[in-house]
Amino acid sequence: MKGEKKKKIVKTIKVDADKCNGCRACEVVCSAFHAAPKYSSNNPARSRIRVIHEPLKDVYLPVYAGEYAPAECAGRDKYTIDGKEYDECDFCRASCPSRDLFKEPDSGLPLKCDMCEDDPPQKEPLCVQWCLNDALTYEEREEEVEEEEVEREKLEIGLESLANEYGLDKIIDTVARMSQKG
Ligand code: SF4
Ligand code: SF4
Repeated sequence: MKGEKKKKIVKTIKVDADKCNGCRACEVVCSAFHAAPKYSSNNPARSRIRVIHEPLKDVYLPVYAGEYAPAECAGRDKYTIDGKEYDECDFCRASCPSRDLFKEPDSGLPLKCDMCEDDPPQKEPLCVQWCLNDALTYEEREEEVEEEEVEREKLEIGLESLANEYGLDKIIDTVARMSQKG
């Protein structure tokens, strides 16, 4: 039996790579926002948006961290767009074993864009606010989805921020102890 329908806000950031000049302001603000405590440091390696930056090929490509992939793909894509040749995996958003991108540098935990969580509520994601070249544009739309999907996403976001703060092992230990209690 299907569950109840619920409204869900779908957040999208449109990327216009032609407007990106590689200034990396988006990486700086994202990593600072996700530092613990917030804004205590900035390190682009911790950012959930990374700019693929190859000046000699005139390539500046902002890419958002997406889902974790436990294994490398068997096949790769290579794109040429407007005469610019992009490397394999440049457009891929996965945190996967084939590269260092989208991994927390100390713990190795995968990083994923959370559109800046909802606490405190942001008018727009921070990277969009800080991109002075309008390479990033924020859009929202409403969709009707199953209630369980909304709840599952909320749970995933909550667990991810706990894992970022305390490390995945501690979270797993704590859940195991709680389930023993019972
Ligand atoms: S939307 Fe927020 S979390 Fe996602 S990459 Fe931009 S600053 Fe980082
Ligand atoms: S802030 Fe904008 S212009 Fe600067 S690197 Fe990021 S996407 Fe590119």
